[in-house]
Amino acid sequence: MTLLIIYDNQAYDHRLTPAWGFSCLVRLGHKGILFDTGGEGAILMQNAGLLGIDLAQVDTVVLSHMHGDHVGGLASVVQHNRTATIYLPASASESFKREVRLAGPAVEEVTSPRQIAEDAFTTGELGSGLKEQALILRTLSGLVVITGCSHPGVVSMVGKAKQTVGGSVRLVVGGFHLGGASTGAIQAAIEGLSGLGVQMLAPCHCTGDKARRLFQKHLGESYMDVGAGKRIEII
Ligand SMILES: [Zn+2]
Ligand SMILES: [Zn+2]
Repeated sequence: MTLLIIYDNQAYDHRLTPAWGFSCLVRLGHKGILFDTGGEGAILMQNAGLLGIDLAQVDTVVLSHMHGDHVGGLASVVQHNRTATIYLPASASESFKREVRLAGPAVEEVTSPRQIAEDAFTTGELGSGLKEQALILRTLSGLVVITGCSHPGVVSMVGKAKQTVGGSVRLVVGGFHLGGASTGAIQAAIEGLSGLGVQMLAPCHCTGDKARRLFQKHLGESYMDVGAGKRIEII
């Protein structure tokens, strides 16, 4: 399985344009799953092009939550790909769902945890107020959890992922939503994730610089520095 971050606040591959938002392509066997679409379609398409990604090959799009920095690029994806199935939180507005359906793709509304491909699952909608889903991938070396912004809290999202699929967690990648969080809150997140037995952490997007530094300091080798253009291979 390969993960390729297409869109992030920071560029790992300096040919790419960094911008506030997140999007990650998962290649799982013959399947292509796009998790979130970044904020601006033009930047998403340009970054994807530089990485040699053809978004027309994507079978499935998973939208974590309805913030513009995660769904803003969807219209551009749909222009290039009218056959992908879009998995979105059922709590998305009716007008958003109607607009997507009118553009062509099939829409699957997610409420509870479910399987979306052979080794791919969603946690279902989590959190009160703004609902968010995370993507769970099952690999031989453990689960990979991809988060958008982690508004419901990264520790509870990873806990739910573990509970949904079972097994150990190899990697958590995505936004951990700790920008502006106190040192105590960041330490609680580090301890919570360690308590869940997470082996590798790749915080990006809305995690915040201070939180990233603290994760790196506490985790050492278990911390992975990522950004747009980072490719991660998992066996
Ligand atoms: Zn975000
Ligand atoms: Zn958000």
